[in-house]
Formats: sequence, C-alpha cells, structure tokens
Amino acid sequence: MAIGSLPSMSKGEFKSASSNNGVVLNGENNLSKVLHMSSGSGESSYAQNSSRQSSVFKSMQPAFYRLIQSLPIENHSGVLRIADLGCATGMNTVSEVDFVVTTIKELCSKRGLSIPELQVFFNDLPCNDFNGLFMLLNSLKPDYMAAGVPRSFYQVLFPQGSIHICFSMMGLHWLSQVPKCVGNEGLCFYNRGKVWINGGRAEVARAYAEQSQKDLREFFRWRGHEMAKGGVMFICAMGRPNGANAEHQVTPEGEYCGPDFEAAWDDLISEGIVSSETRDGFNLPWYFPSTDEMREAIEASGTFEIVKLEVCSGVCCMEEREYGEWVSDVESFGKKKARLVRSFVGSLVENAIGVENCNALFERMGRRSTEMLEKGLLRPSRFAPCVIAALVRR
Ligand code: SAH
Repeated sequence: MAIGSLPSMSKGEFKSASSNNGVVLNGENNLSKVLHMSSGSGESSYAQNSSRQSSVFKSMQPAFYRLIQSLPIENHSGVLRIADLGCATGMNTVSEVDFVVTTIKELCSKRGLSIPELQVFFNDLPCNDFNGLFMLLNSLKPDYMAAGVPRSFYQVLFPQGSIHICFSMMGLHWLSQVPKCVGNEGLCFYNRGKVWINGGRAEVARAYAEQSQKDLREFFRWRGHEMAKGGVMFICAMGRPNGANAEHQVTPEGEYCGPDFEAAWDDLISEGIVSSETRDGFNLPWYFPSTDEMREAIEASGTFEIVKLEVCSGVCCMEEREYGEWVSDVESFGKKKARLVRSFVGSLVENAIGVENCNALFERMGRRSTEMLEKGLLRPSRFAPCVIAALVRR
C-alpha cells in the first residue's frame, strides 16, 4: 500500500514535531499501519538478513524443549494449538515452528500417545509479508494446519483457553507505539538530537519504560485469557540486566542502530535532505526490559507460573567464522550492516522520510559503519543481550 494512501492521524493524537508525511508513530495502533520486516527475498529483505535471530533461536532450543516436556499432553482433546507471536517471514519462521512440532511429536511417541491434529497460528502486524510466508509454507507442505493472525499481540488474538503452546522470538522489545509525550517538542520528554533512548536523557527513557510496562501487562493479560490451563509459553526478546538504567539499554557493542545510524541521520541533516525536526520526530519503538520489569508485568496478570526468567548477555547470534568474515572486510561490512538494519527498521524510516531519502540514509549509514569500524569506533559483538521467560499457564 502506498504510504500516501494510509489513513490520516485521528483527532486528539499528538502531532509529531517532524515535518514528514508519514503516519505518526506516537499514536495508538499507528505502528500497526507501518511496521513490517522487509518483505520478499531480496538482499535487504528480512528473510536474507535474519541469521542472527536464527542463531538466537538455536541457543534457546534446550530451554524451550524442556518447557514443552512439561505440557500435560495426555489431556489434549484431539487438537493442539500453537501460536507464534511476532512470526515475521522466511525460513526462520518455518524452522521455529518445525522445532515445536517435532518436539511435540517426539513427546507423544515417548508417552505412547496418538499425535493430535496440529494447528499453527502465525501472528504478526497486518503489514507483515504473510503472502511470502504462506507461499513458502505452500511449497514446503507442512503436516500442520496454518492460519495467519494479522493483529498486534498487545491485543486479544484468540478465544479463551484455546492455545496450548505460545512463543514469541525477538518481538517483545517492540513497543505498541512511541510514547505519546516523546513527540511533543514542548515537553522534557522530547528526544532532541537522537533516534532512540540508548545513551540519551533519563526523562525520555522513563517515558519508554512506562510504555513498555503498559504494553507488557496487556500482552500477559491477553495471553492469560487465551491460553489453556497447563499451556506453556516461551519468550525471548532483547533485554537488559537488572539495575541498568533505562537509558542504558545496551552496550555500544550490542547496538544495531548506534553511532553509525545516528551519524547517517546527521549527514542527511547537514546535506539539507531532512530537517533536524524530522530526525527528532523519528524514534525507534524499542525497549529492552530487565527481568524485574518482565516479572512485574507477568505477576500483574496473575495467571502464569514462572519456570525460568533471566537476562542472558551472551546469547550467541553469530558463529565465529561468520563473524570473522563480517568484520574482516571493512568495505562490505558497512554495506551488510546497513542492509541488516534496513531489514528491520526500513519500513519505519521510509514512513518518516520517504523511500528516496531512506535509500540515501542507508547509503550514508553503510559508509559511516565502514569508516567507524576502520577507526575502531565500532566494536560489533557476536552476542546479544536477551531476556528469556519460560512460563506455565496456571
Ligand atoms: N520471530 C521472528 C521475527 C523476529 S522480528 C524470528 O525469530 O525471526 C520481530 C517481529 O515482531 C517482526 O516481524 C515484527 O513485525 C513483530 N512485531 C512487532 N510488534 C508486534 C506486535 N505488536 N504484534 C505482533 N507482531 C509484532
């Protein structure tokens, strides 16, 4: 859909200080109209740039496997329903669900039970490339029934008590919206000179922390409603250690939209391509919760027993060989890093400044990443800080 044809801002929402024509992201439900991982299978697509998420999932498999073993599978009434929340598209999505399906089949055969009919719900925001995903599934002919659920996981998605296994990989650090107050130039929450809260001002980070807590509570409230008793839920998202202030979301090594991304915005401003107000009006809807913040939201729902809840700063997201290749060729490093970042925030940047300027931004970012790596100003890590939760529906 052309951005220009998107519905306009409704009355009562904050007007962003930016002068762009896109959807204002600090309004409820507006992110749903814009956000999607890059579609298709081109070089900047999510499908071609998600090997990190795939490595994170591999690291999570033993814990997820153990959790599935605790499912009271003998109680199934012929159908077992699985939900992948924030599924995106491509082989990652398919192989994550395959892992769950294989584990269930193995569990049934270990216990001498017949395998139930398996129904898998793929959930993401409506702009997600569901077509690409279902075309891929069609070619693979999986032995489960697949359905798409295009709606925010901060809302209700399924009938009461209907889901037995629910998981969300690398999705819950996406907020439902940029906090409203962050877009208002008159307030202390205005995020001047920055595109995110990392290393920024405490007031802005506090607004993000409040938004995150509100979102997480909605998430667990609805999942509590939808999951069957004894059902299991596994979550892995970007996270930060307890005690780290909200404005210290991630160390420079783990930052994807860090100094190189910000320098690219500065370049566009100094070249007169975008105004500084436009940059100030662009804010990433990310918040990396600590285990304390996660726990608070889970406990507020009153419906889940916590089997495991931890932040792991060393989740491997790149094999050593791949990492070596990535950082050894500085020229291609910049291009690859820009493609990677575009695969997950490209839709938001395009919404803010249009496709042409977005091309310019990621071209500048590629150059800046190369330059900063050469000068030792970037020290990319092959580990991601993640918050992990294994829960059972009481
Ligand atoms: N689970 C996939 C994708 C991770 S990327 C994997 O492991 O590779 C995060 C995904 O979460 C994106 O596809 C994004 O669109 C989705 N997402 C973000 N906010 C969401 C929301 N409120 N509701 C549903 N999906 C959301």
